[in-house]
Parts: sequence; structure tokens; C-alpha cells
Amino acid sequence: MRKQIVPFLLLAFVFLTGCKALSARVLPPPTYDEQCQPSDKRFMEWALDTQDLVPIEEISADPEESLDQVMAELDRVGLKIVPKGEVGNPQWDGFTTTFPDFILVSGDWEGRGDASKAALLWHELVHKEQWDRLGREAMIARYATAAGRWSLEVAAYRQSFRVQRLFGIPEAQIQRNMKARAESLYEKYLLGSSMPECTQQTSIDIWMLDAA
Ligand SMILES: [Zn+2]
Repeated sequence: MRKQIVPFLLLAFVFLTGCKALSARVLPPPTYDEQCQPSDKRFMEWALDTQDLVPIEEISADPEESLDQVMAELDRVGLKIVPKGEVGNPQWDGFTTTFPDFILVSGDWEGRGDASKAALLWHELVHKEQWDRLGREAMIARYATAAGRWSLEVAAYRQSFRVQRLFGIPEAQIQRNMKARAESLYEKYLLGSSMPECTQQTSIDIWMLDAA
């Protein structure tokens, strides 16, 4: 079921936005050398770009306060949280995603703690900023290639790990989370279709730039 989510998302994006000029904006996928360096550096630059992340100094280190803060921010930008069950589509099982106007959250949402909810919503807010800054066509064009999807998610997960550090989660745990995330990105976003396995380390290297 998971494997079908990326083409499904692409279709959903195209359907929701009525995009007609997708192919004109899609960059050719890069190739990778033995050091896992991509032939086109732009994807790396996007992954490293932090302009869509709320500065960590502006986020409360208290999970409950932080959750209130991010909920207020989502409210301000007009983003609603929609439990997946209300959509009634089994494709969304366990999956969280952001569209221009809403965030679909998994069925276990209400049972999660404040820290988990806040970390997830700060991540989703990055996608909202990406969407607003890039515009729908550029966003969809990035989503169309593995390296593009990777760049959007690596930037957004950087915020998740910044927030985890802010909440005082032990560094060893954060690094285990990073490793698991780098691997799960491959499955969830079908990156293995054109990115070699060794590039998983590139994701971790980028997230570790914030380690003290
Ligand atoms: Zn994401």
C-alpha cells in the first residue's frame, strides 16, 4: 500500500491544482558518482536551504507551549488539521501530508503526546512555506523526481530534528531517529528508484549540521 502513495500523491496534487505545465518544469534526475555526489547540485542546495524553517530561537522549548504556538501559526496561515479517517481513504493509513489548505494526519493523532504532535506540525509547516514560496507548479515539478522529493523532505525533517533537540531528546535517540528516517524516506517516497542507497548518509549529514 505504501508503495502506491507517491504516484497517488502526484495524481492528487495535479488533480487538486489543475496543473498543466508539469513536464516543462521537471529537472532531469541527477546521476551519482561513487562518492554519492549528484551530477546536478541544485537538489543538494534545496535540501540544505533553511529559509522555509521557522528559526529555532522563535520556537518554545516546552512541548505544550510549542504545540500551542504551531497550532496558532497553522491557524494564521489557514491550514486545517484533518484526521485521515474523515477522508475515508485507506491509502492514507499512517501517512501525514500537507496540501495547500490542510494537513492529513494519521488515525493515532489524538493519542500522541504534545512533543510528538508539535515536532510533526513544525515539519508540516515547512511544507506549507515551501508550497507558498515555490508555487504549485514548481512544487509539483520537484515532487516528480526522487531527488526533488528528497530535497523537500530533507529540508522539512531538519526542522523535526531541530525541534527534538530543543525539547531535550537525548542526542543518541535523535541520531537513531535520523537513521530510521533516512531509511524510511527511501520506501515512503520511492527514492530508491533513482537515488543510490549510499545517499541515505547525505540526508543524515545534512541533519547533523545542527549538532553542537
Ligand atoms: Zn514531510
